[in-house]
Amino acid sequence: MIKDNYLLIMDRINSISKKLNKDPESITLLAVTKTHPAELINQALALGINDFGENKVQEAEQKLDKINRNNKYFHFIGHLQSNKINKILALDPVLIHSIDKLSTAQKLNDTCKNLNRIQNILIEVNTSGETSKEGVEPDLCINLIKDIADLPYLRILGLMTIGSLTEDSLEIRRCFSLLKSLSIQIAELNLNQVKMQYLSMGMSHDYEIALEEGANLIRIGSLLFGNRIYTNKTGV
Ligand SMILES: *Cc1c(COP(=O)(O)O)cnc(C)c1O
Repeated sequence: MIKDNYLLIMDRINSISKKLNKDPESITLLAVTKTHPAELINQALALGINDFGENKVQEAEQKLDKINRNNKYFHFIGHLQSNKINKILALDPVLIHSIDKLSTAQKLNDTCKNLNRIQNILIEVNTSGETSKEGVEPDLCINLIKDIADLPYLRILGLMTIGSLTEDSLEIRRCFSLLKSLSIQIAELNLNQVKMQYLSMGMSHDYEIALEEGANLIRIGSLLFGNRIYTNKTGV
């Protein structure tokens, strides 16, 4: 079943890329594996998916040992709590998608300094304006990035957003288009240690719109694995 879902998504990525005159290889499909058991994740990775993401530290810790990570990349896509920074870094994430505050970035930078390692991050932007969403406000994004760019142990590699939770595809498109235009503005600033390499946007219900608006990293969970079953109140 995962294989059929995977092939369908790859097919959509290929045809949308073709329409946009883009190389489909430039699009990264990130499998969002939260709530799914390690065996299922290994199945997905065996199909050729290289990138997978979790949003809870404890859940990721429990599963990562059982996941075959040869040439596979773990992404942390959840809200970053500053008291969990050590634990997250121990899991060696290739990218942390969810930095939205200078204070958290400073703590992350300090911890990276102690460990003598560089961490790649994305800045999460709240493009929908929904108060329930994490992410820096679009108006404050550039200043935040300028501040974080000064932290020597972090590398900003792009932006991430979660589109508006609505049926209104125009509103969803507005969110993604806003993230793209922010990334263009930021790239033009030529800040040290800042690259706008990744635009992480689009999930199961809106990844096609995201691709049309310039996403090159899409985060897909339920369309690949089926609906999530939450087994306890913490959402794990
Ligand atoms: C759960 C999650 C996804 C995937 O959601 P689906 O709708 O299942 O594709 C993507 N991004 C983030 C940040 C998530 O937490």
